[in-house]
Amino acid sequence: MLASMGLLVSVPCQDCGRPVYFGDSLCRSCGVPVTAEVREVLDERLDATGGDFTTMRRRLMELSWSLIVLACVRVLSTIVLIAAGASLWVLLDTAIVISAMLVGAATARRHPRKAILLVAVVWGGFEFIAGVMNPLMLLEGWLFKLVTLVFVVRGFYAAQTADRIRAELAREADAAAKAEFRPA
Ligand SMILES: [Zn+2]
Repeated sequence: MLASMGLLVSVPCQDCGRPVYFGDSLCRSCGVPVTAEVREVLDERLDATGGDFTTMRRRLMELSWSLIVLACVRVLSTIVLIAAGASLWVLLDTAIVISAMLVGAATARRHPRKAILLVAVVWGGFEFIAGVMNPLMLLEGWLFKLVTLVFVVRGFYAAQTADRIRAELAREADAAAKAEFRPA
């Protein structure tokens, strides 16, 4: 069970001044869309409670950084492969895989599952094709592949944790909002 410390946190709507809660995209009172600034202030207040929101943020930061580390690992492994005499074609799939990792890192905060799925599909897809074409390729740079696999699995776990917390926060914030806006 998650602690409910931050759930009654709200910020006033920029238009009508009624409370806006976590997960609200429109003001429940006047219907005005919640601006990025209002959401930012709400995020800061939620973060200040040091509760589940902070845990979620940390998981998302971890995920984002994991993907950046993975991109660096990929660069390193490509250098090693080329030094060992691999064809320069590895540069092409490295460029595509790294792009997926960086896009994933940039979008992890809002769409963690999609971000890690993109990386897993692009990276795994290239490994699969290489393995079908030449099974011995799977062993090439196996240590880097193992590291990548571990990071991808951890990434899925981080994304799942963050999404679960986000859903729970939204549900409880919704309950708090409904209590606030209950007709008198
Ligand atoms: Zn409003």
